[in-house]
Amino acid sequence: MVGNVPIGGCAPISIQSMTTTPTTNISATRDEIKRLEDVGCDIVRVSVPDMDSARAVEKIISQANIPIVADIHFDYRIALAALDTGIAKLRINPGNIGARERVEKVVAKAKERNVPIRIGVNAGSLEKDLLEKHGFPTPEALVESAMRHVAILEALDFTDIVLSLKSSAVPLTVSAYRLVVKACDYPLHIGISEAGPEQSGVIYSSVGLGILLSEGIGDTMRVSLTANVEEEVKVAKRILAALEIQSSMPRVISCPTCARNCLDLFSLAEEVERRTSDLKIPISIAVMGCAVNGPGEAREADFGIAGGDGEGLIFAKGKILRKVREKDLVDELEKEIRLHLEKDAESGKDC
Ligand code: SF4
Repeated sequence: MVGNVPIGGCAPISIQSMTTTPTTNISATRDEIKRLEDVGCDIVRVSVPDMDSARAVEKIISQANIPIVADIHFDYRIALAALDTGIAKLRINPGNIGARERVEKVVAKAKERNVPIRIGVNAGSLEKDLLEKHGFPTPEALVESAMRHVAILEALDFTDIVLSLKSSAVPLTVSAYRLVVKACDYPLHIGISEAGPEQSGVIYSSVGLGILLSEGIGDTMRVSLTANVEEEVKVAKRILAALEIQSSMPRVISCPTCARNCLDLFSLAEEVERRTSDLKIPISIAVMGCAVNGPGEAREADFGIAGGDGEGLIFAKGKILRKVREKDLVDELEKEIRLHLEKDAESGKDC
């Protein structure tokens, strides 16, 4: 358990992100966490690079509605201070803490507070001897590093562990996770680290996480983007929805358009997505340009538009409702969607 969020086994795959504000800026960090909560983030990590940040974490936790993970490197005193604040998880590699008694102190306090520890191996910061042994970051090197840290915790009878083995390369990351599931049974936090700016980062994360999740690998995930944090959560939710693993959001199905399209379909599809983004229900909404594939897709979806010349047909639950002028299409579609959802909610039906 990370706070009230289960990780592993049959638990839903939880979505994580990480704040980008200085942790000591409590109000900015709290605001960023609130934005993450609003888009459906399950767990949020904050960097704790110094004692001031550890003190700030306590205040941040008291104002957050989702579990907070403290991200700490090397300094066991900061880890101990963070554990006193009520954090829900500690991200630290025990092999990097130093002397055994320091590790023991951190582990003893984590145990006492029921706080799990995430061991996060990253290809960019592999131990020197492993780099020398393997030549460069290989899947085997990542797994060997992870299992070293695991052995340290297990020797102290601590098994409340989550593992991650990340790199910015998709094949390396995928191979490392495939290997580690053969080596141990701990829940896995998956991600492609430093995946890049928004467009390329989305592609690299979707390919990497898509492969892993489709093989049943991964218990909690983060999409790392050089972009607004909310985007990380939205992309993660879409990856899970695309794989039909879990979904709590509408999906707009829209055509790429061609010479048969007579509507401003690009704006129409974007506007439909924007207007329905607050709905926390996995409905499908087709926005199609013409009468060739439009009516078919619109009928198959929960709701839809099939375009004509300056007008379109509105569909709901497989039936044509009416013909509407192009300028009214989004308003009318939104009205129908909300009306149907209200009726379904009153009758206790799932859409
Ligand atoms: Fe073209 Fe119609 Fe297909 Fe859209 S639905 S791509 S407009 S044929």
